[in-house]
Amino acid sequence: MNISNIPFLDLVSPHRELQEELISVFRTALETAGFIGGSAVESFEKEFACFCEVPNCIGVSNGTDAVRFALLAAGIGRGDIVITVPNTFIATTEAITQAGAIPKFVDIDERTYNMDPVKLQEYLESQCRTNGTTGALEDRVTMQRVAAVLPVHLYGQMADMDPIMEQAERYRLHVIEDACQAHGAEYYSERAQRWHKAGSMGIAAAFSFYPGKNLGACGEAGAVTTAEAEIAQKVKMLRDHGQAKKYYHDIEGYNGRLDAIQAGFLAVKLKYLSEWNAKRRDAAARYNELFARSGVDVITPFEPAWSKAVYHLYVVRCDERDALRDALAKDGIGTGIHYPIPLHLQKAYASLGYHEGDFPVAERTAKQLVSLPMSTNLSLQQQIVVAGVMRASSFRLCEQVGD
Ligand SMILES: *Cc1c(COP(=O)(O)O)cnc(C)c1O
Repeated sequence: MNISNIPFLDLVSPHRELQEELISVFRTALETAGFIGGSAVESFEKEFACFCEVPNCIGVSNGTDAVRFALLAAGIGRGDIVITVPNTFIATTEAITQAGAIPKFVDIDERTYNMDPVKLQEYLESQCRTNGTTGALEDRVTMQRVAAVLPVHLYGQMADMDPIMEQAERYRLHVIEDACQAHGAEYYSERAQRWHKAGSMGIAAAFSFYPGKNLGACGEAGAVTTAEAEIAQKVKMLRDHGQAKKYYHDIEGYNGRLDAIQAGFLAVKLKYLSEWNAKRRDAAARYNELFARSGVDVITPFEPAWSKAVYHLYVVRCDERDALRDALAKDGIGTGIHYPIPLHLQKAYASLGYHEGDFPVAERTAKQLVSLPMSTNLSLQQQIVVAGVMRASSFRLCEQVGD
């Protein structure tokens, strides 16, 4: 049998195509010795803000710092509760904890894999109350202040922002978007009667430019976007040791700046991002059609009418997930699992006191999810091979949702 050799993610080809442009960024940095900050960072920040249709972008050292700085700049800190989902990369909750706050999970929607607004509402209505003295919302059990909601636009698909924003307004909570997988994704707001870009709806949002993300640096990088000038100013201070002016430290901050070289690389790649996202959407549509046509029995991604997803990952669900992965691996086809263990069941969070069964949807889907090859240059031929191997594996692949 021929080994097809289809990588889960092809990062080599897109960089080969941009080699000359990227090398010239590096050459300029060497010639000017401008390695940190400066005009390369500022111009990338302007361009990315423009791309996200939001007034401010602040480049930082990675996506984890972006989440942490966004929280801190929004005034969230010690003892505050931040509501998020259990099926995300641990960076989301690490940033919450590192800001001094406590992650509180609500379950996800079975079809979008993102925060279920009904579960959010249930938590706020039945497990929280308003503190008579301070007027703040607090958890009935722990009596800690509920300060923010942190939806994650997982796999490049938007969380359902309208009802999340409505709940947040009702209870006066900040909304901070984890847009680390969603550069360029869009949400149609019924309330505003228009499309919004990921990263432009909450009080602030975090982006990661880890190499494998839809917009990736050639190393580590991230950004915070925000419409609020005050938050932008605060993030600028936090990333640079709390200084607004060199050696004048109003607060203690962090070493969390964006390298000029990475900003230059990102500016080169940003020009192609819309085209790359369109290619990912095309590839996702081709997978959907191939599976439907050839009767491959997996649950394909659901894209509601209000979402334009950018398919950072193309994730299907299947009961025989491990058998499916083995069959694909035998044929040289790479896959991934994002993520195998929901955060509330990770050892690192044993102290939060959650148990198996607390978030049934996140737990069930975690056992069924498999991410198929997805890259900007994934070809129809490669996808036909993937679909062929999946069809040929004779096991009953999947139960449909709701069975
Ligand atoms: C990648 C990612 C992060 C963290 O970004 P880094 O740049 O790796 O620090 C945070 N949240 C989510 C959902 C991510 O996918």
